[in-house]
Amino acid sequence: MIRDISSIRNIGIIAHIDAGKTTTTERILFYAGEIHNPGNVDDGNTVTDFDPEEAQRGITIYSAAISCSWRDCSINIIDTPGHVDFTAEVQRSLRVLDGGVVVFSAVEGVEAQSETVWRQADGFKVPRICFINKLDRIGANFERVVGQITERLQGVPLVLSIPIGSGPATNSDGFTGIVDLLRMEAVYFDKESKGREIRREPIPASCQDVADDYRVQLIESVAMLDEAVFAVYDETGDIPLADLNRLIREGTITGQFQPLLCGASLDYIGVQPILDAVVDYLPSPLDVPPVEGRHPKKENIEVRKPNENEPFAGLVFKVQVDEHSELYFVRVYSGVLKSRSRMLNPRTGEKELISQLWKMQADSRVKLDEAGAGDIVGVVGPKSSVTGDTLCEANQPILLESITFPETVISMA
Ligand code: GDP
Repeated sequence: MIRDISSIRNIGIIAHIDAGKTTTTERILFYAGEIHNPGNVDDGNTVTDFDPEEAQRGITIYSAAISCSWRDCSINIIDTPGHVDFTAEVQRSLRVLDGGVVVFSAVEGVEAQSETVWRQADGFKVPRICFINKLDRIGANFERVVGQITERLQGVPLVLSIPIGSGPATNSDGFTGIVDLLRMEAVYFDKESKGREIRREPIPASCQDVADDYRVQLIESVAMLDEAVFAVYDETGDIPLADLNRLIREGTITGQFQPLLCGASLDYIGVQPILDAVVDYLPSPLDVPPVEGRHPKKENIEVRKPNENEPFAGLVFKVQVDEHSELYFVRVYSGVLKSRSRMLNPRTGEKELISQLWKMQADSRVKLDEAGAGDIVGVVGPKSSVTGDTLCEANQPILLESITFPETVISMA
């Protein structure tokens, strides 16, 4: 089985409590599921024996990792706890993800917890997209939040969309859609159809000037990254969309800026652009440095590239217990993890049984025979492993850079 590692996105949706992380995650999963797989075709692997009550409560949203597909990409959303008490847990999840979507409330803006998580993401060099949510609410203020991201977080927001409403800067219940600054058009999302219907129209006259200003800022920030493109901009006053997208991706992955989108996820406004931005701008496992560890006995540094021909190495980042079994969530860094195999836990010296592999989706779980480098999978079988443990091939052992987290609360706020 040949997998395209460049089409994997391991992301976290990061937010201050109440900013709308759950709503945004649910909407993304719903939207990707509905639009990408219309009719929800059962591929024969889907297990539908979920407790109906459980399914209704959308329990899989609370799964440590949940997968969906968008365009040609397979997106794994890793749960990042929003509460400051779980800072150690946030760090663990930041370690296994390659990129993040940081959700802010347009009303409350940047809060203490957002600062904590932002700094942790800085620490782990996690490329990010920002999403300013709740623009439909009275008191929403787009520009204030953009300013706070710059001033309080020392972020470099690259504004890709602005709200259309009673005024593009300060919005209230007049909020109806967004201006897509890449294509310079207005985009309206129909709430009744759960965002399935999207209309693209010319920018309304009331926000043309603001859109033009933001467009210049966008193009100038991006053109700086490439001399040849800058020359084109100098001559023509614009940059072709393909160059713009390529440079936004480069600048995002290298941490030079954070693309910023906006909307109201409750009404599906701006949700599809989040999915597109995840695919277009956030890194795949091939775009991040290979994982390092050490040989458990020889102590020398070992490196594992995200490649299926390398020996298998994976990190257990969460153990979730349900009524049936314990599910070990593993990020596969290299090689291939097969069901019905045994893998070494170099900390305990035990060879753990890998009896089943599961991919968790919004409304189903899919059983896999194997999982490849870069992917994230739920494993049933191990008995004595814990969060933070490495699993690897017994004859090629590696202890992944062991980060020990104090179980006490670290507050950076
Ligand atoms: P979390 O704590 O970050 O997971 O936030 P939730 O997703 O649970 O949202 C917190 C509250 O904000 C809930 O009552 C949501 O219905 C509401 N909410 C989320 N997104 C929006 C939005 O875009 N507009 C409005 N008006 N309310 C929202």
